[in-house]
Amino acid sequence: MVDPLEASPAIPCQTAGMTSHYEAIVIGAGVGGIYQIKRLADLGIEATVLEAGGDLGGTWYWNRYPGARFDSESYTYGYSFSRELLDEWHWKETFSGQPENLRYLNHVADKFGLRKYMQFNCRVDQARYDEAQNLWFVTVSDGRTLTCRFLILTLGLLSIPTLPRLDGMGSFKGRSFHTFHWPHEPVDMKGKRVAVVGTGATGIQVIGEIADKVGDLTVFQRRPNWSAPLNNSAISAERMADIRKRYDEIFAACARSPGGFEHEPDRRGFYEVTREERVALWDKLYDEPGFGIWLANFREIFTDEKANAEFSEYIADRIRKRVKDPKVAEKLIPRDHGFGVQRVPMETRYFEAYNQPNVHLVDLGETPLVRETATGLETTERKYDFDIIVYATGFDAITGAFDKIDIEGAGGLKLADKWRTTISTYLGMMVHGFPNMLMPAGPQSGSASTNYPRGIETGVNWCTDFLEHVLAKGYTRFEATEAAEKRWTDHVTGMYAMMLMRKAKSWFTGYNSNVPGHEQGTIRYLVYNGGAPKYVGIINSAAMKGYTDVVFDGGKIPPSGSQPRATSPSRA
Ligand code: NAP
Repeated sequence: MVDPLEASPAIPCQTAGMTSHYEAIVIGAGVGGIYQIKRLADLGIEATVLEAGGDLGGTWYWNRYPGARFDSESYTYGYSFSRELLDEWHWKETFSGQPENLRYLNHVADKFGLRKYMQFNCRVDQARYDEAQNLWFVTVSDGRTLTCRFLILTLGLLSIPTLPRLDGMGSFKGRSFHTFHWPHEPVDMKGKRVAVVGTGATGIQVIGEIADKVGDLTVFQRRPNWSAPLNNSAISAERMADIRKRYDEIFAACARSPGGFEHEPDRRGFYEVTREERVALWDKLYDEPGFGIWLANFREIFTDEKANAEFSEYIADRIRKRVKDPKVAEKLIPRDHGFGVQRVPMETRYFEAYNQPNVHLVDLGETPLVRETATGLETTERKYDFDIIVYATGFDAITGAFDKIDIEGAGGLKLADKWRTTISTYLGMMVHGFPNMLMPAGPQSGSASTNYPRGIETGVNWCTDFLEHVLAKGYTRFEATEAAEKRWTDHVTGMYAMMLMRKAKSWFTGYNSNVPGHEQGTIRYLVYNGGAPKYVGIINSAAMKGYTDVVFDGGKIPPSGSQPRATSPSRA
């Protein structure tokens, strides 16, 4: 199995020019990096984007597996910054698929002339801050070292895929890939014996999509996930015209809701309504598109064990009704966590797949995987032979992409060391000890727990307004104070105390059995759970107060009378 990220040095960097110094270097040309370079270009800041992949698109460049699509309504996933873009783009499906999503991002880059700022196949190996020169030195996989004043990390929160640590990994002679590294050319699965390992959001999408297209499908499930129907549909020209008219309303609703979606929680108290009223809401939400079943539910689902258990049992009954073999149905019902305390995968024909005679479920709880062999996989019970093995085994989430780059701040401090046991940031966008470094959608920012692009636009806007302020004032160095970083991290940590999800073994809490040190589910405070409106309120207030938590030029606090702006989507 080849890791394209590891293989990228062999491919020459496609460089935008020979310049080796930039005012700003952005790392990552995904949804965040594309918008970030747009904002920098608009301000006339000399900048480049370095991207490890062969082209732009991030998540939607890499994840080409069958069934890959939005769980967010397409029209809430697109950028909101340009009225013209909103008016001209027709989302074809309520939950658009990967090929269309990648086309959209390419369209955005081409429309705004952003490609010329991007350098592809350029993996960044190291970023080192040089105190004496007040510059970042960025080492690229082709051997070049670039310098910049400001380093902006748009690395993606789910961009470092992880594989099981089984004996014999790599010995399989058939075709095998992690879903993130799905080949660009079509994979012929017709009549093939296929294994899928993993039943997270990715596995559930793949399984539902390929079950009736392969010869034989064996699903290796370690822990089942709660899942509910996506209820996707085509978007007609008339419906798209209506969506275009309502864009302001739609984005306002997203901005109001904790998750950055159109779905807003039911404000009635769980215990204030009757059981019949609760079931009536759940019946309605189960048949509606998208995350409503999770996010338009009673708020107690997230915080109250008893309420969560009642709702989880409702979903368990739905699974029992859809899966014909009662033994299989029971295996597909999670026992170790309630609905929604892990990220809810949305499914299409997932449960029905198990009614097909060619689909088999292996419960790894009963018979764990022990090794990959030349012909397939082996559990404690038996050997299985396959033509194709699909690993849908997740990511070294949120901090993985930061750990992958050797990031060294002031005084030789390594970011990976600073974050080894506990994460700390200022607003999820700066780190004390790492001057002139911004993370528009970093750990502990508003992005991870919300509809990504909504959070990303918020973060990019805030960081860009901040940079504009720095440049307008003639500052050359900024750094969040240690005290402010501690306050923010305490706030993020405190938010977890209210949430049932703090008990879950999932990437929201930093669990990954395949990453040394993260196996036990020891909680790491990686995401902000206060909701988008609260997050935006806090970061806007920090700006309006004149960024008093940030030290400029090694000691100067901004003079009073400076007029920073509140972050608001700037729409051209
Ligand atoms: P994931 O949620 O972390 O799921 C990984 C799966 O692989 C789990 O079922 C896990 O089992 C299993 N697994 C991991 N290591 C294993 C091992 N060594 N042996 C056996 N099983 C193993 O990863 P994901 O499904 O890729 O999803 C990650 C996130 O990506 C999602 O939560 C979502 O935010 C995002 N995503 C979004 C979309 C979308 O928007 N439509 C689609 C796909 C993914 P355990 O649970 O036992 O660890």
